[in-house]
Amino acid sequence: MTRPRVAVHKFSSCDGCQLAFLNLGETLLQLNEQVDILHFLEAGMNDASADVDIAFVEGSLSTPDELTRIRQVRANSRYLVSIGACATSGGLQALRNLDGNHDEWRDAIYARPEFIRTLKEVRPIAAEVRVDLELWGCPVSSTQILAAIRALLFGVAPVDDRDRVCLECKRQQAVCVMVTQGIPCMGPVTRTGCGALCPRFGRDCYGCYSPSETAQTATLARRFSGLGLLPDAIARRFWLINSQAPPFLQTGRVFHRSAASDPDD
Ligand code: SF4
Ligand code: SF4
Repeated sequence: MTRPRVAVHKFSSCDGCQLAFLNLGETLLQLNEQVDILHFLEAGMNDASADVDIAFVEGSLSTPDELTRIRQVRANSRYLVSIGACATSGGLQALRNLDGNHDEWRDAIYARPEFIRTLKEVRPIAAEVRVDLELWGCPVSSTQILAAIRALLFGVAPVDDRDRVCLECKRQQAVCVMVTQGIPCMGPVTRTGCGALCPRFGRDCYGCYSPSETAQTATLARRFSGLGLLPDAIARRFWLINSQAPPFLQTGRVFHRSAASDPDD
């Protein structure tokens, strides 16, 4: 019997989600006995054009070359799983989409902008090819990756957990930083997956895992306002990591516009 074939591809990203694979440690070595990992540059395997059963894709589409490459990855893969905020919503680099002034940013940042070939807008993987499963997070968690591999190898649909971080926060018996300290926290509108990591360490949630189901973003934004955040600061909370995820994008826009119309606010 042939072993399932797996690839991990990198697009525009910081490699943090690939590190979530490497953080599996001994489990990754055991996994390597069950599957053939054919392409995973961070781990030393290099066969980018291999036909595989599961292709994991980290990173956003930011250059014309990446558009060509993702189509090839899709054609070579039975299942394609996008991993992390960059791949699922464009990530931090998609902040430039908000401004719509690609050329100005490029010319200001690079010493020789004439050598830079980038797309006007950063896109998530699903904007260009069919994606079978999206694992959100910045970075994704090792537990999520392992659960997805297991499910796909056993031929069952992976669980798409869209609970709020608040629910996980309560399960972990963390003290609520918003209620007890008045710190604005994105947990009520953010999907879990991190195990409420930040609140467990007394910090507010930054919204790394994208909008949860039925995310009441406008209500939370009003609560942030009640806690003293100015409109532009509220917009920045929603736009920090997943600015292109629709509920975060829209609520951010409302407060950004409000800040622009009243610069003293
Ligand atoms: S989602 Fe976050 S951790 Fe993953 S590659 Fe993008 S910036 Fe890095
Ligand atoms: S700390 Fe944040 S995530 Fe935890 S219960 Fe409070 S609002 Fe929700």
